Amino acid sequence: MTAPQRVFSGVQPTGNLHLGNYLGAIVNFVKLQERFDCLYCVVDLHALTQPVSVWGGPAELSRNTREVTAAFIASGIDPKKHIVFNQSLVTGHSELAWILNCVARIGWLNRMTQFKEKAGKDRENASVGLYDYPVLMAADILVYRATHVPVGEDQKQHLELARDIAQKFNNDFGESIERHGLGSGFFPQPEPIITGPATRVMSLRDGTKKMSKSDPSDYSRINLTDDADTIAQKVRKAKTDPEPLPSEEKGLEKRPEADNLVGIYAALSGKTKQAVLQEFGGGQFSGFKNALVELCVTKLSPIAGEMKRLVGDPGHVDKILTDGSDRARAIAAETMKSVKDIVGFVRKH
Ligand code: ATP
Ligand code: MG
Repeated sequence: MTAPQRVFSGVQPTGNLHLGNYLGAIVNFVKLQERFDCLYCVVDLHALTQPVSVWGGPAELSRNTREVTAAFIASGIDPKKHIVFNQSLVTGHSELAWILNCVARIGWLNRMTQFKEKAGKDRENASVGLYDYPVLMAADILVYRATHVPVGEDQKQHLELARDIAQKFNNDFGESIERHGLGSGFFPQPEPIITGPATRVMSLRDGTKKMSKSDPSDYSRINLTDDADTIAQKVRKAKTDPEPLPSEEKGLEKRPEADNLVGIYAALSGKTKQAVLQEFGGGQFSGFKNALVELCVTKLSPIAGEMKRLVGDPGHVDKILTDGSDRARAIAAETMKSVKDIVGFVRKH
């Protein structure tokens, strides 16, 4: 049995959505709607894996869930043609995660760099959920038997793990899968889609660290909801080096902050970095930064305006989520029936 081609991806409702989320993930979500059936999920179960100081507590979680949904819609995701919902509304994610926990190996999880980075030095005090995050992510994808997963560069390793888990499940239960007439492999190998001009947007304060929602410094990122003055302040304060901008892309090597700002300009304007450097090369950062502020404001303010309008109507946003979850649940339920048969759980027919 070949599963249909399907896109799944998620964004956590932790803190403020930023330019990295937009350019690395959401822009691709919008594009893929033309070619695939897509599920876009606000992954609220994942938000709880971080300390409460990061996800902000119950009221913040609800607010952020609606805000991420608003960002999806404001950016051009169509919740009628595709499926937009929050993860906790479909219990199949957690249910499958348990089974996949018993398929995944501790040695595999021990290699995950996101856990190491997020847990930091105080690893003993990190939540079990943070360690197990990649298995839940595998379940998110596989419960829909999704074939394509658009993500930023930082999620590449987790996608590889999801592929390993799918493969091991198919091998471990190979005989049972065939006996139930479910073909030779039940779960597809989900393909990462890591494309576009900005698959890894870096922090404005440190060009070697990725821009993150959970970075404590708001000056490290441009949020989708920042107003023009805030964007101007953040871009002007962004770390640079004393050299003028180079005229060739090669000149950006070993200059991570310059490379990042030129990359952001290129991604937002739809130009190549080379074309941006042809325009600004040889000049000081101050002139380039002014142009970057203007570009950010032009591109982001319509999205921010629409997000504000949507967040002001939480009833409408909640309806989008519950409608989407009904359709998501129907797909997940089919997968779970087969998974239970494959594993040998006695179930109600
Ligand atoms: P957190 O710090 O809480 O993990 P985050 O900023 O990494 O937040 P996520 O919700 O984990 O945001 O990720 C949502 C999507 O955005 C993922 O596909 C991820 O790969 C992508 N993404 C996150 N940060 C960046 C970035 N700096 N550049 C490009 N893509 C990014
Ligand atoms: Mg992240």
